[in-house]
Amino acid sequence: MSSVLVILETRQGELRPSCLEAVGAARVIADAKGCAVVALAPESANLDAAVIGAAGADQLMVATAEVHSADAAAATAARVAREISANTVLLTATVRGRDITPRIAALLDTGFAPDCTAVDANTMVFTRPICGGKAFSNVRINGDVVVASLRPNFFNAAGREHTAEASEVPSEAAKAQVIEVAAQSGERPDVAEASIVISGGRGMGSPDNWHLLEKVADVIPATGLGASRAIVDSGWRPHSEQVGQTGKTVSPELYIAVGISGAIQHLAGMSSSKVIVAINKDADAPIFKHATYGIVGDALEILPELAAELEK
Ligand SMILES: Cc1cc2nc3c(=O)[nH]c(=O)nc-3n(C[C@H](O)[C@H](O)[C@H](O)COP(=O)(O)OP(=O)(O)OC[C@H]3O[C@@H](n4cnc5c(N)ncnc54)[C@H](O)[C@@H]3O)c2cc1C
Repeated sequence: MSSVLVILETRQGELRPSCLEAVGAARVIADAKGCAVVALAPESANLDAAVIGAAGADQLMVATAEVHSADAAAATAARVAREISANTVLLTATVRGRDITPRIAALLDTGFAPDCTAVDANTMVFTRPICGGKAFSNVRINGDVVVASLRPNFFNAAGREHTAEASEVPSEAAKAQVIEVAAQSGERPDVAEASIVISGGRGMGSPDNWHLLEKVADVIPATGLGASRAIVDSGWRPHSEQVGQTGKTVSPELYIAVGISGAIQHLAGMSSSKVIVAINKDADAPIFKHATYGIVGDALEILPELAAELEK
């Protein structure tokens, strides 16, 4: 019997939450095809078979390696895909997913649909935003196996009672050895996965004012901190926080843009957010054309008031 294979991603030994959304999407496809869902963690990690089973997986395979390079992770995934006759391979469209997805497609000699926001399980047509979110492309992969990566925050875990059957699989040898993985500083969730993101732009005035954004983020649990490229280029914040065309794509439930003008390259990374709140002192700033709610005023005055209200 064929299967839908989901490649799990871990960070610092823990499963990344968006993987459970991919497992849920795999469940929907598998139900339409009448086949099983196999989740593969291409490195050893702290994984709960009950959580992964509840999200939709029938089986959980854990590869034996400690630290995995992208080439070894892709080779392991492609080998497992062949072994279980996978008809579909799903990943998350994270930085790591973007690295591994095309490698797996190449090894399986098939095409891939990157950064998808929807899939029709009956027709296997994947929808993906293009041109910075201004248009959508519907993609169907011709071939025996379909490879796709899914944008975080667009799919849902199945939410059922099931514990995945766990087993170990050998890892492929790495051609490139990972020497070090530099841990991201701080406890906040990655902007690409957070369900709420508050981002600052040049309108914040100075890195010394960043604590005003952090204060708001601290009041709302699991809020990610983002920044415009102007901020990252100025060295105020790390590139891992940059939202936009040359940064990360985010699709949170709520995106709060503070002192960000709304340049097209920034919009490319956040315009698919469900609710957008813009705080800007210029009522004509382009960001307001895309905002669900707008506050015109000085961010340095508004943020403390916002934090105080939220604290209540
Ligand atoms: C190839 C390329 C790729 C790019 N990729 C990205 C990308 O990935 N992400 C990205 O963000 N940009 C990207 N850019 C840059 C982009 O074009 C903009 O330059 C950048 O987004 C502007 O950042 P900003 O909105 O913080 O600054 P600005 O455009 O300078 O806007 C600052 C805003 O703050 C407001 N403001 C000022 N003071 C206050 C205050 N006290 N209170 C409230 N509001 C205030 C102003 O009215 C203004 O609207 C890219 C550009 C290129 C050419």
